[in-house]
Amino acid sequence: MGRPFTIPALPNNIRAKKKLPGRLLFILMLLIAALVYSTYLIARSSTFSDLDSTARERLGLYRSTLESALDKYRYLPYLLSENDAVIRLLSGRADPGAVNVILETANEKAGSAALFIMDETGKTLCASNWQDPSSSFVSRNYGFRPYFRDAMAGNEGGFYAIGATTGTPGYFMSHPVYASPGDRTGRPIGVVVVKVDLSGLERHWMEGGEIVFVSDASGIIFLSGHTAWKYKSIEPLTAETLKTIRQGRQYKGIRLDTLALEKGGSDAYQWIRINNEKFFWAGLALEKFHWQLNYLIPWNHLEERVNIYLYISSALGVLFILCLLFVQERRLKKISQQKALAAERMGRMNERLQREVDERRRTEGHLRHTQEELVQSAKLAALGQMAAAVVHELNQPIAAVRTYAASCRLMNGQNKKEDLNKTLYSISEITDRMEAITRQLKDFSRKTPLKVSSIDAREPVQKACELLRHTLSDAECCLVLDMPPGPVTVLGDRFRLEQVFVNLIKNSLDAMVDTGDKRITLTFLEDNGTVEIRIKDTGPGIRPGLKEKIFTPFFTTKPDGTGMGLGLSISSRIVKEMSGGITLESEAEPGAVFSVRLKKG
Ligand code: ADP
Repeated sequence: MGRPFTIPALPNNIRAKKKLPGRLLFILMLLIAALVYSTYLIARSSTFSDLDSTARERLGLYRSTLESALDKYRYLPYLLSENDAVIRLLSGRADPGAVNVILETANEKAGSAALFIMDETGKTLCASNWQDPSSSFVSRNYGFRPYFRDAMAGNEGGFYAIGATTGTPGYFMSHPVYASPGDRTGRPIGVVVVKVDLSGLERHWMEGGEIVFVSDASGIIFLSGHTAWKYKSIEPLTAETLKTIRQGRQYKGIRLDTLALEKGGSDAYQWIRINNEKFFWAGLALEKFHWQLNYLIPWNHLEERVNIYLYISSALGVLFILCLLFVQERRLKKISQQKALAAERMGRMNERLQREVDERRRTEGHLRHTQEELVQSAKLAALGQMAAAVVHELNQPIAAVRTYAASCRLMNGQNKKEDLNKTLYSISEITDRMEAITRQLKDFSRKTPLKVSSIDAREPVQKACELLRHTLSDAECCLVLDMPPGPVTVLGDRFRLEQVFVNLIKNSLDAMVDTGDKRITLTFLEDNGTVEIRIKDTGPGIRPGLKEKIFTPFFTTKPDGTGMGLGLSISSRIVKEMSGGITLESEAEPGAVFSVRLKKG
């Protein structure tokens, strides 16, 4: 079974991009809503300020049309007050008939509603409508009108009222008449009045589609394109005001109700609600007349306009979110594609890695097997080399046994029991030694699996020395074993270590063939967590260039057939398996120093 592989992490740029989280979306929507709302507020305030300036402009225009409609008649009473016929009439020196004609002609030419002359009591002496018996002002007294009183006080009078005789509304402008035109110090002898009809102006306003009305000083709407509001008061009328209006018969026969009205607003704009209908309101005071010009815009028009901004900004907000979601969607799609691709790639890589690992495992298995074979071969090679020594070693005891056996036979014939026993004892000693030799060989050649455990490092060293004892003595090599008296526990396999030390000692021995003073010294050194066993010889040592090569398999400098070049490589491998190592400590002459390091057990 192969070791499971984890798919490598996805690249950062893929991993970092996550789906737009709900909370972020919510915050974004809130922000957009806030943005939409502020846009709405800004649009609303700018609409109000636009409307205010439009209303001011329109009011200015209405004011000038109203003033010019009245101003063009203002000169008439004055001109007539200077007229000789009028003065003579009021002085009682002229015939009213001629003045009536003058007034009729002048009224016709000027386009005013009526022209008339009153004496100092308020009685009309002449009028442009003298010919109309039903509505003629002649002989009627209008002394109750404020314009008469103003003119008699020496001022120009102006007054809007519903005609007391005709019942038609109009604006009355009066001018005093003096006995001598140049002298205005005395009391006026009469008053000239012109009545101007403003219904045309009103009609014009109505047709214009705009809501405009004029209210007088008491708050009564007297000019309005909106007929339902006409002669309605925008403020509740006090009893005193009502009394004054009645006395001047200004709005004769009209009820003068108060409109159901409410006002409000801020610095930026003002509104007015009339009969539950709300309007944007702008007013302009016409000081000259003590009137107020009012301009209204239906509130729903204004809201429609503001709402357009609201709709546009909301639509833009929604569009923005949709765009964002679309972009996000696309990004996610791309990321998922990238992820799928990456996962596929990773999967392929994983498979390849798995295959490689399996392959490596197989190769490792083969190698291990081969290595074991090599170890075995090396052992066999060593066995081969040692065979001669073994034969030599065993020959002597065999010969001794043969001699002892012959002696035994003799001793038996001579009945020398005591000597016979001694000789038999010697034979059994010799066979014990022979058995020891064969046992060592058996151990060495056995293809045992590596069994790492806590062992005394002195044992394999001693065993290796023992195995090579005869070889060493044959070669006249001196072996110095410098071992601590107590056990030196290390982690290792006793049989394999034995093989390692045999190899190393054998190598030293081989290297010293031509050396006079042959000496091998084995020293034990202990360090923190490690035990080092040094094998030093007095041979020629190893040439500098060969330091790396000697540990490679099949490297040998020995003559053909005598060395396989496997000893060091196998030994080093074995020690590595025990978490230790073999190193060449000294490569210079005289001699070589190999160091076997083992972990303390
Ligand atoms: P082999 O002994 O079969 O040649 P080894 O792997 O044991 O294979 O040794 C490789 C080579 O290392 C030897 O041929 C020899 O040249 C060199 N060598 C090993 N030990 C020593 C030593 N103590 N002194 C000098 N040379 C050595």
